[in-house]
Amino acid sequence: SNVINASNLILSYDNGRKEVIKDANFTVKKGEFVFITGPSGSGKSTLLKSLYGRIKPTSGNLVVGGMDLAHVKPSKLQELRTHMGIIFQDFKLVNEWTVSKNVVLPLMIAGYSIDVQNTQAHRLLKHVKLTEHADKYPMELSGGEQQRVGVARALAKNPVLILADEPTGNLDDYSSNVIWDLMENACQQLETTVLVVTHKIPQVFSLPYRHFIIEGKGVYEVH
Ligand code: ADP
Ligand code: ADP
Repeated sequence: SNVINASNLILSYDNGRKEVIKDANFTVKKGEFVFITGPSGSGKSTLLKSLYGRIKPTSGNLVVGGMDLAHVKPSKLQELRTHMGIIFQDFKLVNEWTVSKNVVLPLMIAGYSIDVQNTQAHRLLKHVKLTEHADKYPMELSGGEQQRVGVARALAKNPVLILADEPTGNLDDYSSNVIWDLMENACQQLETTVLVVTHKIPQVFSLPYRHFIIEGKGVYEVH
C-alpha cells in the first residue's frame, strides 16, 4: 500500500506566483527507504514541508498516510503528524528540557500517562545508547548525540512515516553513520517508511532504496 501518493502536484509560494515543484508524480510504498536529492534551492525542503502539511498543494493531489492533503482541514493536520516522525538538520530540541523530556514530547502531546512516558523514554534512550545522558540538557551533548535524541523522538510513537531533512548535515562522518544505522534499523525492523532529503547519499548505506531527484521543478526517479 502507498504511504505517499503525489499526482500532478504543484507546490508554490506567494499565492502561486513562485512555483517550486511542478507536475510531480510519485508514490512511496509502506516500508520503503527513499532518498530525495537536488541542488540547493531546488525545492527539497518545500516538498518535505508539503508532506507534513506545513504547506498546502497549489494544485494536484497529495495523499499521505491516507490523508488527502490538498483538501484536508487544517484542524486535521495534527492527526497526520501523530503518525509521523520528523528529523531536522538542526535537531530542533527544546534546550530548556532534559534529553528524556525531549524524547517523549510526542507522547506528552498525545496525552500519554507519566508512567508510559517514563517507560518509553527508557526504552528509546537505550535504543539510541543515551541512557546515561537522560537527565542532561541538549547543550551538554555533542551534535551526534543531539541527533540521536532527535531520532529517538521521531520513533516515540512508532510512526508509519519518518521524514528527515538533511539529518546528518551538521555531523561528522562517524556520527552520520550512527544516524544512518538507526534510520536503516527503523525501516528494516519496524517497517517504517523513511524519506530522507539529502545532498549526498551515504556510501555506507546497505538497504535497497529508491532515489528521486528534483530538477527543473520536476521530481524524477533515478535508476
Ligand atoms: P532546497 O531545500 O532544495 O534548498 P527550498 O525548498 O528551501 O529548496 O526552496 C526552493 C525555492 O523556494 C527557493 O527558490 C527558495 O528561495 C523558495 N522558498 C522557500 N521558502 C519560501 C517561502 N517561504 N517563500 C517564498 N519562497 C520560498
Ligand atoms: P529552511 O530550509 O530550514 O526552511 P531557510 O533558511 O531556507 O530554512 O528559510 C528560512 C525561512 O525563510 C523559512 O521559513 C523559509 O520558508 C523562508 N524562506 C526561504 N526562502 C525564502 C524566500 N525566497 N522568500 C521568502 N521566504 C523564504
